[in-house]
Amino acid sequence: MPLENMKAMLSKAAGDDYAIGAFNILDYNSTKAVVQAAEEANAPVIIQTSAKTVIFWGAAPIISWVRELAGSSSVPIALHLDHCKDLDLIKECIESGWTSVMIDASSKPFEENIALSRQVVQMARPKDVTVEAELGAIVGVEDDIHVKEQEAHLADPEQAIKFCVEVKPDCFAPAIGTAHGVYKGEPKIAYELLEEIATKTAVPIALHGGTGLADDVFKKCISLGCAKVNISTQLKYAFIDGFIAYHKAHNTEYNPLKVIDAQFHQLKAGIIEKIKLFGSAGKA
Ligand SMILES: [Zn+2]
Repeated sequence: MPLENMKAMLSKAAGDDYAIGAFNILDYNSTKAVVQAAEEANAPVIIQTSAKTVIFWGAAPIISWVRELAGSSSVPIALHLDHCKDLDLIKECIESGWTSVMIDASSKPFEENIALSRQVVQMARPKDVTVEAELGAIVGVEDDIHVKEQEAHLADPEQAIKFCVEVKPDCFAPAIGTAHGVYKGEPKIAYELLEEIATKTAVPIALHGGTGLADDVFKKCISLGCAKVNISTQLKYAFIDGFIAYHKAHNTEYNPLKVIDAQFHQLKAGIIEKIKLFGSAGKA
């Protein structure tokens, strides 16, 4: 099927209490793992690229892998640019065929965040490209930010409403206490805040920092309004561990295709598990 944007898949998910997995890819093999996992689970899926990955490969090869894999697939697939602060890169992705983009102007003052996010919505909408925008600061655990500091970065509910009214994003990423990377302790999720924002804005919420959250935490966040769940760090681990584990077990064999295949299966298994957990299996 041709690529689609996130609008229909997120609104169906939000209305039916499940979430779409958004998986960060790194190359052709990991993209194929996402698509085949979605096929096997019969689930809609979001292929997500970090700005770094787009800069590393260039937009052209990525869009060709994704179009080729999606074209021979029967499940709904969106291609989404994750956290991006650079309007030129967002423009390039929109023009290259990404069906969805995220503007992350969350480090800017509130009014400036609104202005930049609106600018991206105006750029994207005529091309039928969906937009995710962020409010508050979703911290990285590698930054060694403690819970008290983390609470100070949470999205403010009144600002969240104003932001969504003025920006009209298709998907909203308020900081609710999750963090990027690998959690060092128990993450403290602001469930009441999540529920209040999801209810009052009526915009599908994106859950960032998914790697390392317990199954019941995912389920609760989804039941409170998260319709998109990002998984990135877990795939970075599977990408490297899949390679290493195969080579350790066959350390005299130098057959790269077998190593690539082992990596593919490790990635795919983890993705299928998450798709099932998020409730999107069978929803294609
Ligand atoms: Zn994120």
